[in-house]
Amino acid sequence: MQNAKNLKEYRAELRESLDNDFLRSTMDKFAVAYPVGRANAFKGMDVQSLIAEVADAKDAAAKQMDQLYAQFKAEAEKRGVKVHLAKTAQEANEIIAQIARDAGVKKIVKSKSMTSEETQFNHQVENEFEVVETDLGEWIIQLRHEGPTHMVMPAIHLSRNQVADLFSDVTKQKQDNDPQKLTKVARRELRKEYATAEMGVTGANFCVASTGTIGLVTNEGNARLVSTLPRVHVALAGLDKLVPTMHDALRTLKVLPRNATGQAITSYVTWITGANECATGPDGKKEMHIVFLDNGRRAMADDPLYSQVLRCVRCGACANVCPVYRLVGGHKMGHIYIGAIGLILTYFFHGSDKAKNLVHNCINCEACKNICAGGIDLPRLIKDIRARLNEEGDMPIETTLLGKVLKNRKLFHTLLRFGKWAQKPVQDGPFLRHLPLMFMKDQGFRRFPSVAEKAFRDEFESIKPKVANAKLRVALFAGCVQDFVYPEQMKAAVKLFAAHGVDVDFPMDQSCCGLPVQMMGERQATIDVAAQNVMAFDPAKYDYIVTLCASCGSQLKESYPNILADKPELAIRTKQFSERVIDFSSFAHDVLGVKAEEFNKSDEKVAYHASCHLCRGLHVTEQPRNLINMAADYAKAEEEEVCCGFGGTFSVKFPELSEKLLDKKLTNIEATGAKKMVADCPGCIMQLRGGCKSSGRDIEVRHVAELLADKLK
Ligand code: SF4
Repeated sequence: MQNAKNLKEYRAELRESLDNDFLRSTMDKFAVAYPVGRANAFKGMDVQSLIAEVADAKDAAAKQMDQLYAQFKAEAEKRGVKVHLAKTAQEANEIIAQIARDAGVKKIVKSKSMTSEETQFNHQVENEFEVVETDLGEWIIQLRHEGPTHMVMPAIHLSRNQVADLFSDVTKQKQDNDPQKLTKVARRELRKEYATAEMGVTGANFCVASTGTIGLVTNEGNARLVSTLPRVHVALAGLDKLVPTMHDALRTLKVLPRNATGQAITSYVTWITGANECATGPDGKKEMHIVFLDNGRRAMADDPLYSQVLRCVRCGACANVCPVYRLVGGHKMGHIYIGAIGLILTYFFHGSDKAKNLVHNCINCEACKNICAGGIDLPRLIKDIRARLNEEGDMPIETTLLGKVLKNRKLFHTLLRFGKWAQKPVQDGPFLRHLPLMFMKDQGFRRFPSVAEKAFRDEFESIKPKVANAKLRVALFAGCVQDFVYPEQMKAAVKLFAAHGVDVDFPMDQSCCGLPVQMMGERQATIDVAAQNVMAFDPAKYDYIVTLCASCGSQLKESYPNILADKPELAIRTKQFSERVIDFSSFAHDVLGVKAEEFNKSDEKVAYHASCHLCRGLHVTEQPRNLINMAADYAKAEEEEVCCGFGGTFSVKFPELSEKLLDKKLTNIEATGAKKMVADCPGCIMQLRGGCKSSGRDIEVRHVAELLADKLK
């Protein structure tokens, strides 16, 4: 749960998790095993099409939420079920408590329900009723007075020894730490609770409007006991669980367990239509209620951007693949809901105060977007929430300043040029010896680069190749780092392009792509900078706009159309601009069709870091690896596509997390035995190079373009 008052307190909490070796190693093992299990479960299926179908169906359901609710209510009530609608979490808890009072309930058994976590049901009612969780993980965390650390595996952060100690306390008997024996202890202890409880509370994964049916997807069978043994059954479900037909539910069921735990199907899938027979119930029937929770969902359904949040099926995959979650676990990477979706839902369900620190803890690696069962654009929504938080409160001074500077290209570039002189006292060749102390604190894990002697834009006219009968005409987009820090990367690309008869241009009015200010939640500066860049390039003059920076590429191609959506006067130009944007590797490989014969291939081992915005933002995966193999001996590293820990402003806000991610990345590269590595993004290169320098690792870090230009015959 989030109780930190500010970023400083939040960082202190994060450090506690980093010091937890057990948590770290468990998360590491899970993070490595999960993608393998998921890939096996989806084998032979067109995953992206399936996800797109789920997304479309969920969008359609969200649009008719009120009608589906009315239909469900009519159908369920025909079958003897009472259906309630709660506007707020508190109202939902009160409805259930009143049902319990009316039925003379003393003990409630519960199966796993994230919606009841959202309403904090146990906390709200346990002074009046005895509430017992029956899902193994939920029972464990209930006994420890904790919240879940994962939506599907709530006790993943605990070792078997911790559970054995806990169960020893509960049973007043020493328990073995063998997981199977511990499960038996839980089973024995919980059986008597089912038998003596008067009410069972479950969640619902699906609420089928055409039949008034609820569907429960579980692995332990406890939901069946909870929903059948006690004489009263209450299911608590968000309005987002409504689907029109069983067919819609089954479609989502194809994705949910596969994406959550890598299972083709869970051990139990239970469908309940109407109140069943029950010997101890009134008239021999079970008393059954379904409580639907709004809590902002209806408003969300009407929001053109945020309605996609209602596609979430709570599979937890966005946490499974999140490199930050992997480091710190769900107690720190969430409030009630965790992982990427937790950052968003916390803002809507639990308020700005709980979300304000949490929402900064996203490195924008896009791993969540790529895996989401509902195809939700989670990184975009997280960035938008940062902007909302900024707009709601006082904008931090550094955000305002950066926004103002970036909006003024001339001022920004003047400051960068000034950096060349200002850095002299602390310059150590291509690196700075250190930054001023207040910036240097916590940043010792990497060295920062110095500003280049001459910016690429200042050299361009003198190096621009003269190409007769040009095959293609391209404009280069440099981004700030390659323009002012690593111009040699741009020059390498120009050399390769010239050899292929490409005429290159460099429009001088281009500026920063705007991603840094967007990450800081400065909405207006993001729009202004995007508009400036679109206006700087006349799409009619170029076949392609090539960038060597994966982050810039993803921003220009994928994000600009959204960022500039409210500027209809730029709509056509933005579309043409974004369509022409291409990353260096795709351009060289797919458009120019470079061949191995063009290079003096060496047997030098070269490792690769797949930049997040290249492999996930632009979905470019094979091209850079093939290019490396044309010029050198490509050495595959473990977890090539996991983030290097840069994330722009993230690495400044959370240096302790950035450091761990960087160290893991460099350790994996080192293990290949390669003394050289390449990447497609100057931000990653800055991080990796700075990390090697600081840790004394003898690994040269270059851009893919430099490797190719060096080996060009
Ligand atoms: S946001 Fe997507 S990945 Fe995350 S829990 Fe929801 S459906 Fe799963």
